[in-house]
Amino acid sequence: MPGEPDELPELERRREELYRELGQVGDFRRGSLNEVRRKCGKPNCACAAPDHPGHGPQWNLTRKVEGRTRAVHLRPGPELEKARREVAAYERFRDLVGEVTEVNEVICQARPAVPGGTAGGEGPSGTGGEKGGSARRSRRRSPPR
Ligand SMILES: [Zn+2]
Repeated sequence: MPGEPDELPELERRREELYRELGQVGDFRRGSLNEVRRKCGKPNCACAAPDHPGHGPQWNLTRKVEGRTRAVHLRPGPELEKARREVAAYERFRDLVGEVTEVNEVICQARPAVPGGTAGGEGPSGTGGEKGGSARRSRRRSPPR
């Protein structure tokens, strides 16, 4: 159950770790890679046959920009491999952002409103809490390592 006093340092450690991993993601880009084949349209070409898959493959990196799809053509080889890594790194980045968001939300639940208090809003709060105090610092003293 969230709200155990010992849970916060553990969660904060996890969060730091995720931020560290985020910093190591490297170059990334949005988009998806699609393999495309095309028919050149020359009637004498082999690709004119109905069962021919078409020339290629060529790889397109497509991405929506303001509602329009933009495509970048990539050649197989280093260019394509680089784009694959960059697209995969974005996936990794997005996963990490999701994880760090979840950890932060658990931290928010576990963090007591008043330092030293208990979290979770259980117990009577007839006093309406302490208002007018100085703004609560979001950073706690870091635990000794
Ligand atoms: Zn052709």
